[in-house]
This record gives sequence, structure tokens and C-alpha cells, in this order.
Amino acid sequence: MFEKVVIANRGEIALRVLRACKELGIRTVAVHSTVDRALKHVKLADESICIGPAPSAQSYLNVPALISAAEVSDAVAIHPGYGFLSENADFAERVEQSGFVFIGPRADTIRLMGDKVSAKDAMKKADVPCVPGSDGPIGDDDDETLRLAREIGYPVIIKAAGGGGGRGMRVVHSEAHLLNAVGLTRGEAGAAFGNSTVYMEKYLENPRHVEIQVLADTHGNAIYLGERDCSMQRRHQKVIEEAPAPGITEEQRRRIGERCAQACREIGYRGAGTFEFLYENGEFYFIEMNTRVQVEHPVTEMITGVDIVKEQILIAAGEKLSYTQDQIKLRGHAIECRINAEDPKTFMPSPGKITGLHVPGGPGIRWDSHIYNGYTVPPNYDSMIGKLISWGETRESAMARMRSALEEVIIEGIKTNAPLHKELIDDAAFAAGGTNIHYLHKKLGL
Ligand code: ADP
Repeated sequence: MFEKVVIANRGEIALRVLRACKELGIRTVAVHSTVDRALKHVKLADESICIGPAPSAQSYLNVPALISAAEVSDAVAIHPGYGFLSENADFAERVEQSGFVFIGPRADTIRLMGDKVSAKDAMKKADVPCVPGSDGPIGDDDDETLRLAREIGYPVIIKAAGGGGGRGMRVVHSEAHLLNAVGLTRGEAGAAFGNSTVYMEKYLENPRHVEIQVLADTHGNAIYLGERDCSMQRRHQKVIEEAPAPGITEEQRRRIGERCAQACREIGYRGAGTFEFLYENGEFYFIEMNTRVQVEHPVTEMITGVDIVKEQILIAAGEKLSYTQDQIKLRGHAIECRINAEDPKTFMPSPGKITGLHVPGGPGIRWDSHIYNGYTVPPNYDSMIGKLISWGETRESAMARMRSALEEVIIEGIKTNAPLHKELIDDAAFAAGGTNIHYLHKKLGL
């Protein structure tokens, strides 16, 4: 096993990685920016190194500083968490070229999946169902583009191959707007992602977001850990996630899960990963693969009992998966509410000092958060300050536990979106299950 790991992240995921390392007997190195000296995991780590000032570009995205931190601390491996450099193929390559282990897939896999055109191409070859669309990039022949859209049928969506974070997409409802939309998206994609390649997909009007968690080792084994429903979103940002997804049958789960595990074997995938799908009228349509641990991984952990972060580390150390597919049994239901430091009505970030804190507990409640009484939430980073997760034998019991846990949470000094979660947990459509990705927008009157 690794002797020492650098945790190249901050906040709750850095703490989550630290906990997994401790359990495995691995020493930890926390790297942090100047405003993050008081982060909980920095205090708990065996060593800590300041890697730069508050702006991420100079700290958490500063590759030479991260590599130096690994060198001076004599670490063996680097865990990137999520966000920041976690899906940056060049970083993964630099880490390995510098003689450290990158706890994640190989750089060429990250690169393959980071380009949505090549990712879709690879998935099609592996028989993973994709949204119907252009096979590859849209070319320069306008007649061909028009013909393609007619064949797919309007509405269509023009997407940037290098897009991410819900940016670089444009929905087109009629032929009159198609060529203009392609031109605009190309221009924006070139400026934003340095890659003007765009492609076309059928625009699905009322899909749900359902994703499959996978784990694959370096010995050719790959398994799926069921699905998560992340349809409750605002501006493509997930707000609530749950597992399993309401209404998905065991047979559907097995079929799509096996396809994803098989795709991992075919592309030589390594580590934890997520296949994201839009789900409409009983069919799954692949949109992209995330080559890292996800924010919402705890709901899967709660229903499978698998520690996904520990598995990531074990896989990176060359171990075989701790489970075979037969040993993965789903039990009960789990829900996660992302707690953000923001105004629950305007969604404006609300950084500042936490002057009072009471965290919830009791059966089936998990609180993944780095905040503590007296901690100051800096304005420089993502506003998520924690995740409240509930588990129950049934969806109803997980909801009841979440409702009561939300009533117990008290965070004073800053505003949080806890009131929004209280409202959503009492929402009739959410209670019924299976709301689509537009539901929250409509409910909020956006
Ligand atoms: P990103 O990498 O920017 O998150 P995705 O390809 O995952 O981009 O798409 C983000 C979101 O955009 C999806 O969750 C969905 O809401 C919407 N979207 C993308 N493709 C389609 C499509 N073909 N039909 C309908 N909605 C889509």
C-alpha cells in the first residue's frame, strides 16, 4: 500500500479522501491555499503545505506547486478529488511522468472521455446506447448539416466537443435557425474551450438524469454499483441525488450496468467512473463519462456498503477489486442534499464566518462536511459546504429521516440553501419520484 498520499483538493472531498487514507493506514499531505489554512482536513493531515494564494489558478490548479508538494513530502501518490485538476489529462500525465501515481484513470482515458465526440464514438463501439446524432463532428458542408438535422428531427442540440459545466450548448427548434446556431456555438466553443469542434444530437425534451457508477481495476475486472437519479438540478448543477433511481427495474439496471462495465473492460478503464445518461420513455442515452469520484458518490455507498474512495486508492495501488459483481447487493434507499452557502431564494453566494453550528444525527444519517463552529467560508471557491445524506429501508423512510435531519441542521452566521431542501423534501412531485431535469426550474418559476 502507498505510504503517503497528497490530497490535491479542499473542502469536504479533501476530508473524505483523508478519512479513507486514515482507514487504510496511509499518511496524508494536505495542500492548501493561503485562505484555507484552517480547513478541517489541513488540521487532521499528517503534513500540510501551502501551495499558493487564494485564486485557484495559483493554488489548486497550480501543477508545478502540486508536483513540488509531492516531491518535498516524499509522497507516492496524488488524489485529485473532483473539480480542479481531477479531469485534466495533462495533469495526470505530469503526475505520472514525475514518478507519482495518479489516483484515477490513465491520462489517455481522461483525454478520450474529455472530448465528447471521441467519448461518444468509443461508447458506440462498446454498444452503450447514445443520443441519436451526428456521428462525429459537424463538418463544413451546410447542406449536409441541414440534411442531418432533418434526419434526426427537430429539436436538435448543438454541443461543443470540449464543453463542460453545462456550457457550450444550443438548442435549435427549426431549420431557419440551424446554421446560425452552429456558427455561434463554434465561435463560443473556440473561445471558451480552445476547441471549436461541435456535434449534433437529438434534443430530448423531458428526460431524467440517471447515471451508473462503475469501478474497474488494472486486472481486467469491472463492476457497476447501480444507478443514481440526479434530475433535481438548477442550471445543470445537481441539488438532490438519490439511489436507486425511482422506477428503474432490476432488469433495466442489470442491462445498462453490464453494458457500462463491459465498456470499461473494452477501453481499459481504471478506477472509479460514472456514465451519465439521459433517461426518457424507458430508454437510456449516454451523454458523457466522468472519470473521477463524484460529489454524489455517498448515496451509492449507502445502498451498496462499498467505500468508493477506498476502492479508488486500492485500485491505484494495483490491487484487485474487493468485490465481484455478484457481491454487490443494493439495500434500501439513500438521498443526498447538497448544502450550499447561498441565499435560498436568490442563490447568491453567502460566504462568511459560521457563528453557530448543530449537525444532525441519528439512524441512517450521514454528514459529509468540513465546516465547524467558527470556520469562515471563503468567497473564492464553490459554495458547497457539505452534504447531508439519509438512508432508509424504503424511499419513504429515507425521505422521513432527511426531513427530520434538515430540521436539526442549524448553521448560523451565513445563509444556506437548507430551506430550499426542506421545501423540496415536502414537494408532492418529488415524493412521487421520477421528476425530470426541468422540474426544479419550473418550480422556482425560472
Ligand atoms: P456538461 O459536460 O457541460 O455537463 P452534458 O453533455 O453532460 O454537458 O450535458 C449537460 C446537460 O445538458 C444535461 O444534463 C442535460 O440537461 C442537457 N443536455 C445535454 N444534451 C442533451 C440532449 N441531447 N437533450 C436534452 N438535454 C441535453
